[in-house]
Amino acid sequence: MGESPVAVDDKAVESLVSGAFTSFGRDHRGRYPNELWVTHLTGCMRRAFFSIRFNADPVRSGDAILGRILHYVSKEVLDPHLAKLLGDDFVLEWEKDVSYQFETPDGDPWLIKGRADLVVYDPNGNAYEVWEFKFTSHERFNQAIPIYVGQANAYAVMSGAHFARLVLVNRNTFAVRSISMSADESGFKHLVERAQNLIDCLRKDTVPVGPELDWECKFCPFSLICVKAREWLSQSKLGVG
Ligand code: SF4
Repeated sequence: MGESPVAVDDKAVESLVSGAFTSFGRDHRGRYPNELWVTHLTGCMRRAFFSIRFNADPVRSGDAILGRILHYVSKEVLDPHLAKLLGDDFVLEWEKDVSYQFETPDGDPWLIKGRADLVVYDPNGNAYEVWEFKFTSHERFNQAIPIYVGQANAYAVMSGAHFARLVLVNRNTFAVRSISMSADESGFKHLVERAQNLIDCLRKDTVPVGPELDWECKFCPFSLICVKAREWLSQSKLGVG
C-alpha cells in the first residue's frame, strides 16, 4: 500500500494549532478610552501604563494560556458540585461583567471594568459572594496572593456582594487553597486611588513606579522595554520609579 495523500501540510497544522491555543479565550471586549481593567490596577502600574499607552496586546505566555483553558472548564467541572454544596436556593452566575464609574478631580468620567469568575446569589436574589479562581504555578502561588486578593475584593465590591473568596489552584499538583474574606470598601477605595494615579501618569506621559514585588518582572511581557525605560530614566534598581 502506498502512503496516504497529505491533504494539509505540517506547517499549516502547526500554525493552526498554535494559533488556536494562543488566541483561545482572548478577550475581544476591547477597551475604550477612559476605561481601565481591574487587572490594570492590582499589579505593576508601569505594566498597566505600557499596556494602555502602547495599546499593546502582548502574546500570552504558556502559563496564561493554560490558566485561561482551566478557567473555561471550571464551570463544567464545578457547577454540579457547587450546586450540591450551596443548595438549590443559591444561584450561580459565571463570568459576570462588572463595572464601577468614578470621576477624576477635574470631572472626567472613567470606568473600571472587570469580569468576576463566579457570583453566588442568595435566595433573595442578592449578590452574596464572589469567587475568583487562580490557576497558578507553585513559584507564584504565595507571592501573588496580595494581587489576587485585591482583584477578588474589587469584583465583590463592584458586584455588591458581601463576601469574596479566592480559590487558588496549583496547576501542577491541583492542590487547592480557599481564602474567604468580607468585601472591603476601603481596599477598593485604594484601588480607585491607584486608578487616579495611573490616569495622571497617562495624561502627563510619565512612566509610573515599578512593582512593589519584583517577581512580577519575571513574568512581564514588557520586561525588555522596561529595561530601556529604566535606562532612559537613569534608574538603577528594578521597581523604583
Ligand atoms: S518589567 Fe517589571 S517594572 Fe517593568 S513593567 Fe513589567 S512588571 Fe513592571
